[in-house]
Amino acid sequence: MAERLANSEANRKRIQYIEQCFGNSGEPLLVPGRVLVGEGVLTKLCRKKPKPRQFFLLNDVLVYGNVVINKKKYNRQKILHLENVRIQSHHDIGELKNGWQIFSPSKSFVVFAATATEKTEWMAHINKCVQDLLTKSGKTPSLETCPVWIPDSEANACMICNTPFTILNRRHHCRKCGKVVCDDCSKQRWSFPQQAKQPQRVCDNCFKELESSTHAANSMSRVPQNDSDDSDDSDEDDELPTSNDDEAQFYDGRRN
Ligand SMILES: [Zn+2]
Ligand SMILES: [Zn+2]
Repeated sequence: MAERLANSEANRKRIQYIEQCFGNSGEPLLVPGRVLVGEGVLTKLCRKKPKPRQFFLLNDVLVYGNVVINKKKYNRQKILHLENVRIQSHHDIGELKNGWQIFSPSKSFVVFAATATEKTEWMAHINKCVQDLLTKSGKTPSLETCPVWIPDSEANACMICNTPFTILNRRHHCRKCGKVVCDDCSKQRWSFPQQAKQPQRVCDNCFKELESSTHAANSMSRVPQNDSDDSDDSDEDDELPTSNDDEAQFYDGRRN
């Protein structure tokens, strides 16, 4: 099925259209052998609150972005290579149901589908793509993933020292464990090449762990505290109106 789709004109046109919708803000998506498996809007748990995001599942990558104009224009494209992706069902959070976690070395987050059926379909298709890729390449799945950030709303105080957050005592996220901590408890920086070029903020607990685990062998990655700009908002996005009344669509009708 995937092989047949890979060579089909319909598949080529679909991918080309997605590329067009991202315009210059995105990377070229049309590469030989690539197949669009499915697409749809999922609610992504972002730092401040849940937001709708357009997702495209291709046979080797998961692409997502903000919806500027529904089905016409997207921006802020992110690409996750499925070889390194793992997923896991997630419990409901109030009104948010049918969720699962997506883990990867560069980004990890929680998404929610509109219905239980869509969740099942998404998860089955993602897992199938990951499996097929690993089988084909003979690789074992990467265990290195970055943490899912705990949403700001779940922490009114630093998760290490318990000092309440205020306008002055701002929230920060540890890039190792995803906890919400104050500046005093996260003065250290550590290099995570998969997440960013610049050394990233880590909490004191994680710093101790990282330091002891790489002690003699790899002191290179230790980075002393610096004054690099840490906007700490890398996951934040513009607020954009969207309508997500349409269902997810999958092009490979076969169920496993
Ligand atoms: Zn603290
Ligand atoms: Zn930490």
